[in-house]
Amino acid sequence: MSSDTQTAQEAQPAQDVLTFADLSLSPKVLSAVADAGYPHPTPIQAGAIPHALQGKDVLGIAQTGTGKTASFVLPMLTRLEKGRARARMPRTLILEPTRELAAQVEENFIKYGKNHKLNIALLIGGVSFDEQDKKLERGADVLIATPGRLLDHRERGKLLLNGVDILVIDEADRMLDMGFIPDIERICEMIPFTRQTLFFSATMPPEITKLAEKFLQAPVRVEVARAASTATTVTQRLVSSKSKPWEKRDVLRQLIKQEEETLKNAIIFCNRKVDVSELFRSLTRHEFNAGALHGDMDQRARMTMLSNFRDGKLKLLVASDVAARGLDIPDVSHVFNYDVPIHAEDYVHRIGRTGRAGRLGKSFTIATKNDTKYIDAIEKLINKSIEWLDGNLSTIEESAEDESPRRGRGTSRRDTRKDESAEKKSRSQRQRETTTDKAGNDQQKPSASVSERKPREETNSRPVKPAHEHGRNHRRHYDDDNGSTPVGFGDDIPAFMLIETKI
Ligand code: AMP
Repeated sequence: MSSDTQTAQEAQPAQDVLTFADLSLSPKVLSAVADAGYPHPTPIQAGAIPHALQGKDVLGIAQTGTGKTASFVLPMLTRLEKGRARARMPRTLILEPTRELAAQVEENFIKYGKNHKLNIALLIGGVSFDEQDKKLERGADVLIATPGRLLDHRERGKLLLNGVDILVIDEADRMLDMGFIPDIERICEMIPFTRQTLFFSATMPPEITKLAEKFLQAPVRVEVARAASTATTVTQRLVSSKSKPWEKRDVLRQLIKQEEETLKNAIIFCNRKVDVSELFRSLTRHEFNAGALHGDMDQRARMTMLSNFRDGKLKLLVASDVAARGLDIPDVSHVFNYDVPIHAEDYVHRIGRTGRAGRLGKSFTIATKNDTKYIDAIEKLINKSIEWLDGNLSTIEESAEDESPRRGRGTSRRDTRKDESAEKKSRSQRQRETTTDKAGNDQQKPSASVSERKPREETNSRPVKPAHEHGRNHRRHYDDDNGSTPVGFGDDIPAFMLIETKI
């Protein structure tokens, strides 16, 4: 892969001089962009669109929030104005790692393609095959798919990929995280070599560089600076806490109450899915208006949760990074990090959900003594130290291991009693949910909001790796459920469970 390289400096601000009319887009597309209210292209758009219109391969290094979706949607729409689709032979294909991102791309095609009469087919899990088959049968100008569902359709003989002229691989590094690279390689090999490929990734780890080298031909490389700074309009604070989950939850509740006056809505980030569910249940028990968003929830629950949050019906959204990443969630007044993110750049993404477009925002990061090295990494990345709200970690004394939940800062006795009884109730409920399978092994039943295990792209969770893939998926584990806390008992594992037994 040889490539021309362009580097755009800023991620968000639109370029002042350049307008969309300078980019050779068709009048229909320009009119839709004008209606969307965007006068100037963002750097990734300014860098990628002219080359994409010329039919060149593009390697775009940009993350969500930079306007990268329009950077491939707009030139595709212009190029699709000539020609028409044939049954079961889509003309273009966009691969997305998750259902939400695929649905967002479809929304972009609808928004910018309102002056075109294009057939759009969305092939994602969690939706019946029949409707999708009908759309394919009609002939799709634009096919947006997650890799697993696309391959399912192909294996059922309902889809031919040899008519694809433009292939978009979006969020390639996330595809890697989710174990989709072998699927992507298979799909790329099914599409004619003469196609145009537009390839986007926020980062370029070696596996992604290799993939790009294999499947792109003389691409133009357009790079947008990585997010390494947080907006000056966001007030950031670290909040020290003891490390037991109930102690952290207690601190969080106090913070939410304390911020009541200015808190319009908030996203609360957890590192693991299991904590998203746990915290959501706890907040609900405490009568907070909360919802949850994580990769194991079924599609309908995720969409409903998001739209309720967007519409203001939900005030608090507890989310994992993977579920929330890339989603176009409107500006929020507060971000709470229930856990300090393990990857420093996730901190920047999380905080970036508030303080948008010059508005004021607040973020609070709950930190325990185990988080010191992650805080150091974040402060190094954003190149400033974050102020502590009320005393740093040196003032924290951990409770004894076997101590039951106790009052945290400023907590009333009533609150603590309520939390203790709610925790006890939840533990016994979860113990009831633990059933025994035929082999006599303990099994955890999924809770109401958590669906059965679905094919990989349907759940957003990392799939089981094929043997030859071991060692590839090593980068992100924070959304796994395999943390040290055994599900079903919380942190309180009865001693007898820890005794080794001979079978
Ligand atoms: P994306 O990076 O594609 O997820 O886009 C992030 C957000 O930027 C979306 O809400 C878009 O509607 C918005 N957007 C896209 N293009 C522009 C533009 N040229 N100017 C301002 N906002 C834009």
